[in-house]
Amino acid sequence: MKFTEFCSKILDLLYYRKCYICSKKCMDMFLCEDCREKIFSNLKFHEVKKFGTTIYCGAAYENELLKVIRGFKYHKKSDFRKILSDIIIKTVENYNINIEDFVICPVPIHEKRFKKRKYNHMELVAEDLAKHFNIELKTDLLKRIKDTVPLYKLSITERKTMIKGAFEVSKEIKAKKILLIDDILTTGTTIEELSRLILSEEPQKYIVITASRSNKCNF
Ligand SMILES: [Zn+2]
Repeated sequence: MKFTEFCSKILDLLYYRKCYICSKKCMDMFLCEDCREKIFSNLKFHEVKKFGTTIYCGAAYENELLKVIRGFKYHKKSDFRKILSDIIIKTVENYNINIEDFVICPVPIHEKRFKKRKYNHMELVAEDLAKHFNIELKTDLLKRIKDTVPLYKLSITERKTMIKGAFEVSKEIKAKKILLIDDILTTGTTIEELSRLILSEEPQKYIVITASRSNKCNF
């Protein structure tokens, strides 16, 4: 065996990773090129005026992307941040949204959940986006003060009751341009509640972008 071959074998061993979705060997980000391609060749952009704002979505919450988001959110696969930030970048480009001078705010999670997960997954995505678009990231404008059970387990009426009083919004929002980001748009309960609070502080502009949209979303 040549020395270079030997070195490449060692590197393979060191960096051996399996694709999180299809288990094929891959070198980068726990996701192989094919699975990545499947996500990015199948983006389903969506724009809707709702809750006093415009909500933009980048992809359907299904197949490979559904697994990526679950892994990212619940199984500590923080490398998947790049998939979500890339989808949001493509959404901004697709709709030609001018986010210059905007302040990016991820949907906050409760302190208890933060301790358990070790990160707010949307904050990682917001970090990437702030860097890419050269805009400011603020994590102290929105605060989750009520620890709710995961909302996907609840009916829409239960979600609405549960989310009441879950957030606190800073007065600093006034006159700022706010870009709120989230992973999935489902029934919109979280976005609705946050939008109500954000708009009551009279921001100069306010828009929402979610990386994906569930087929349970009816708007
Ligand atoms: Zn794969």
